[in-house]
Amino acid sequence: MAANDVMRRILDKIREYDTILLFRHIRMDGDCVGATLGMQALLRASFPEKRVLVIDSQHSDYLDFAGQTDPEVPDEVYATALGIVLDCSDRGRISNPKFTLCRELIKIDHHIVSDPFGDPAWVEEERSAACEMVAAFYEAFSDELILTREAATWIYMGMVTDSGRFRFSGVNGDTFRLAALMLDAGVDTETLYAHLYLHDFSSLRFKAYVYEHMRQTENGVAWLRVDAAMRERFSLSFEDAAEAISYMEGIRGCLCWLVFIDYPDGSIRVRLRSRFMTVNEVASHYHGGGHATASGSTVYSWEEAERLIAEADAATGEFKRTHEGWM
Ligand code: AMP
Repeated sequence: MAANDVMRRILDKIREYDTILLFRHIRMDGDCVGATLGMQALLRASFPEKRVLVIDSQHSDYLDFAGQTDPEVPDEVYATALGIVLDCSDRGRISNPKFTLCRELIKIDHHIVSDPFGDPAWVEEERSAACEMVAAFYEAFSDELILTREAATWIYMGMVTDSGRFRFSGVNGDTFRLAALMLDAGVDTETLYAHLYLHDFSSLRFKAYVYEHMRQTENGVAWLRVDAAMRERFSLSFEDAAEAISYMEGIRGCLCWLVFIDYPDGSIRVRLRSRFMTVNEVASHYHGGGHATASGSTVYSWEEAERLIAEADAATGEFKRTHEGWM
């Protein structure tokens, strides 16, 4: 079904319901927060008579400024509601498990399909952010919907964060046209960027430590393990620790970089990133998946982590041998 037809079906469904519940993924990020809060603000302004809620008990220091989500509602409310899952490809990763109670469920997502759910399911893997899709949804029905400054700010936030400030592959002319539409609605970028990009003094000490201690394999896979001692030494939340992946981006010749974060239950969360080459296949061999160049997985011992590093190293070596033009 063409994107415009799916979007029309989604808007028709929204019109049918008095209550709409919006869902996002666990380990929230700027895109799933922006997509849910942006869609909520868009629908609330456009249909003031409807109840549009985001119910999510997660917390993120980094996204603290987004504020609290709505209070929990009785199960009966879910049972009469339309659920819309944004930025989440897999039902197992939806943060509020009560999505199962919704009368109908829609998916709006830009990840590779790992769990086909939602009727309709509107999936565009080539989009740089789920927020780009929410912006496209607004654009398609701009004569029927009302875009407030608040909605535009949340949508723009997701577009900025998930595209690495409009740098990652997937960013195209459409991305910028839709971002422009959001900026035209009055986004205060100075305040938004201050929320997103200011660092605490202490986090820079951790950054220095990352650069001192990261390692690199023969074929140029950069990696770092953040264990409990390191977390304690720098008073890092798991979220702070996960940030190490962004510090390791941009090393010439390292086409793939990995961070391993030890969790108290013995599992080790892995964040995988790459440029030129893809990394999601390696992730998929270790209880994970994700985007072509940004994936996540979980391993359950350091031996398993070493196997993952070796596999990423082999994939990187193979890519370098068979391709030109990488840096
Ligand atoms: P992260 O490094 O956790 O930000 O993950 C990068 C991307 O990989 C995210 O956009 C997720 O969609 C995906 N991802 C992370 N962990 C998993 C997992 N265990 N299974 C499937 N996809 C994942």
